[in-house]
Amino acid sequence: MKGIAERYGITHTRFVGIVCVSALLLMLLYSVVSRQERIVFNFLYAFFIVLVAAALAFFLRDVAKAHVYAVCVLLFVSGFLVAEYDNTLLVRTRTMEEFRTVLGEVEYPTINEVFSVKYAVLRNDDVGDHSLATAALLSCADEAGVSITLGVIPARLDAETALLLSGATRHEIATHGYAHEHFNVLSFEEQYALIDAGTALIQRVLGVRPTTFIPPYDSGTADTALACRLLGYDTITDVRDHPSFLLNVINSIYYETCFDPPRHEDLDVLKRGIDDFLESGEEVHVTILHDWTVIGEGGAIDEERLSAFREYVGYIRSCGLEVVTLGEYHDRKEDLSRIDIDIHDGAFYIDTLHCTGSHAVNLLLQSGRSYGTIEALMHEEPVRFDESSPAYVLEPGMLYVVRYY
Ligand SMILES: [Zn+2]
Repeated sequence: MKGIAERYGITHTRFVGIVCVSALLLMLLYSVVSRQERIVFNFLYAFFIVLVAAALAFFLRDVAKAHVYAVCVLLFVSGFLVAEYDNTLLVRTRTMEEFRTVLGEVEYPTINEVFSVKYAVLRNDDVGDHSLATAALLSCADEAGVSITLGVIPARLDAETALLLSGATRHEIATHGYAHEHFNVLSFEEQYALIDAGTALIQRVLGVRPTTFIPPYDSGTADTALACRLLGYDTITDVRDHPSFLLNVINSIYYETCFDPPRHEDLDVLKRGIDDFLESGEEVHVTILHDWTVIGEGGAIDEERLSAFREYVGYIRSCGLEVVTLGEYHDRKEDLSRIDIDIHDGAFYIDTLHCTGSHAVNLLLQSGRSYGTIEALMHEEPVRFDESSPAYVLEPGMLYVVRYY
């Protein structure tokens, strides 16, 4: 030891002092690191600094020692300076790591990044004075166990249809104008008055207050949406090129290719539309049809048209798609937004504490991962998912852990 001290040109006492202080500093650092389990010490980089210092001390024996110390200090400081770009931060915390993972890979995770959620909507417009057709379509839907959104024209509502709708509680009553007007040519005051009157009429006759407004001829504007919002609506359809203020659900496909006389889209085209939707990243598929679409010659129900519709609904169901009304879609979206998602150690923590209903979802596999698992924290065995990505039902008030492998 005496020899080393002499070689570096410092006194023996001073050398012992330096060694003691260094050891003390190391012990202090170690005690801090070991007590805080969330702190990660970069041993590799520390070892690198020591190696460089030793090599410099060995090769530059005769050069001024101050230079050796300066280089070491520079290395040490640079570790903190370039830490953002290289793995050279000496001490970092787990929270910092998680933060970088979240920001770097998944920015503000939402439910749509972990699961795919899909709904089909059947929207039947122009309901009011074809009770025979309304009854036929509703019985089709009831047979298949699906709910339909009925766009009711308040001013055309006849007694038979009103009676029919009063008993159709599983379906949604939506407002379809007052007497089927073009809204985009009306002033805000005119639109407001019509929607107000239509809503009141439905409420008086059917005993329900609609929350979905379907502008006739897709003629909704920002004024329409504003009037609807002021009148307590939360959902509107097909508002394009205008701010919509409400949940704005754009249609996906028209069931009819021609309105007068009614001609229908080929069943294969309709089915392909559903297939494409399932492959897409879209959340909702809306099919629009009209009551009068199943009325044949002489005002009777065209059974062939009705059975085609029945087959279409059956196909949607066979794909495992959940058929909801526009109102239900709005409520599902709102409920899904109550899910809290957190990331820890590469796993998603899905908290459904504030949800009010259950949700059918499909796990999305992250790229490069061959499978994932979902584990409800109170269940023992995690459920495994691969590329076929089967449906899973999230229940309210639970905590799920999603991991990828
Ligand atoms: Zn219409």
